[in-house]
Amino acid sequence: MFSVFSKTTNAVTRRCQDDEMTKLRKKYDVYYHTFERQVGSRVWEDGKEMVMLSSNDYLGLSTHPKVIEAGKRALDEWGSSTTGARLANGSRGYHIELEEKLAEFLGKEACHVSVAGYISCMSSIQAFAQKGDLILVDRNVHSSLWSGIGLTQGKVERFAHNNPSDLAEVLSYEKPETPKFVVFEGVYSMEGHISPIQEIVEVCRDQNCFFVLDDAHGFGVLGSSGRGSADHCGATDDIDILTGSFSKALSSTGGFVAGSKDVIEYLRTHSKQTIFSASLSPVQAYCASASLDILQNEPEHLERLWANTRRYKAILESLGLDTWGSETPAIPIVLGSKERVYRFWQHLRERGLFTVMSIAPAVPPGKDLIRTSISARHTDEDFEKIEEAMAYAARRI
Ligand code: PMP
Repeated sequence: MFSVFSKTTNAVTRRCQDDEMTKLRKKYDVYYHTFERQVGSRVWEDGKEMVMLSSNDYLGLSTHPKVIEAGKRALDEWGSSTTGARLANGSRGYHIELEEKLAEFLGKEACHVSVAGYISCMSSIQAFAQKGDLILVDRNVHSSLWSGIGLTQGKVERFAHNNPSDLAEVLSYEKPETPKFVVFEGVYSMEGHISPIQEIVEVCRDQNCFFVLDDAHGFGVLGSSGRGSADHCGATDDIDILTGSFSKALSSTGGFVAGSKDVIEYLRTHSKQTIFSASLSPVQAYCASASLDILQNEPEHLERLWANTRRYKAILESLGLDTWGSETPAIPIVLGSKERVYRFWQHLRERGLFTVMSIAPAVPPGKDLIRTSISARHTDEDFEKIEEAMAYAARRI
């Protein structure tokens, strides 16, 4: 009888079996952990209760009653899926409402929503860049932006992370008339650094630059009422494309690209990710929209997020831990080697904290770290546990 298990191996299956990254993942048994239950800031794995200290639910809205109610209403009103692309049969009134609401909130003329921040970031570059264009990119940008760049025929030049002088030097070798993209992030999620947006814009003056800013971790967190990093730096009008995700502060899934009307209309006909893929589902859109309303009408979540961030940073600093100069609720603990990170991760887990280990090549060599992030949802009781566990792990390391 035919069995798939007796099929002879081929080059690709052997590559999978011998893969070093997969072996590394199995050696450090820290990835793909599955929780059987979640209540507030707590998660359970094999019956063990832990404080979640590495989620992107910055405002803690994923269990807000209004968000849950909105998700249920979406199913009642629209069913589970549009089963089609925006261009074809998949456009709905709720997409337009969310886009208009977001554009107004962000201070841009227009907006386009998609099924993931990853997709929105890819579209922000793939839809616009052409052969002969130059793409200037901060070395530390997220994989989604690199994926978008990979789909273009533009020439790519990297500049040093958050370093306008290095960008100026790269620009000095280029012709001013060449169309250029400057691709960077508002908040770098591994480092917690805020981008010097004004300085970056300044060194690019008169250089024909189209600015693409991924604000996945600044949106809902920085600026007035959480409008994001560009607002925080007073540079909203300078940025051609503001892109971001619903899977962080807005506690849904999906993404957006905001810009001028002309730019967004162009994206709608040139983004392959939009034209050939089904649109944002009703539940995703309704939950993101409800979170956006809460962000604007209930400032206490944002206030608590920052109060918790200050409290958490003070704990880490009192223990002498290296937070890489993080200025945001995304706070790394840099330990410098895989083995140290692994031991630290285990000690935290033993004491009831769930965190995420980030090791090279995901971070620069020597910067292996534990990636933690604070939420408005963390309670006094959580902080007692966090303080005790961090002190224990710091002593043991
Ligand atoms: N950009 C950055 C900086 C991110 O950190 C992420 C997700 N981790 C994304 C884009 C992709 O967002 P999403 O999860 O919505 O696909």
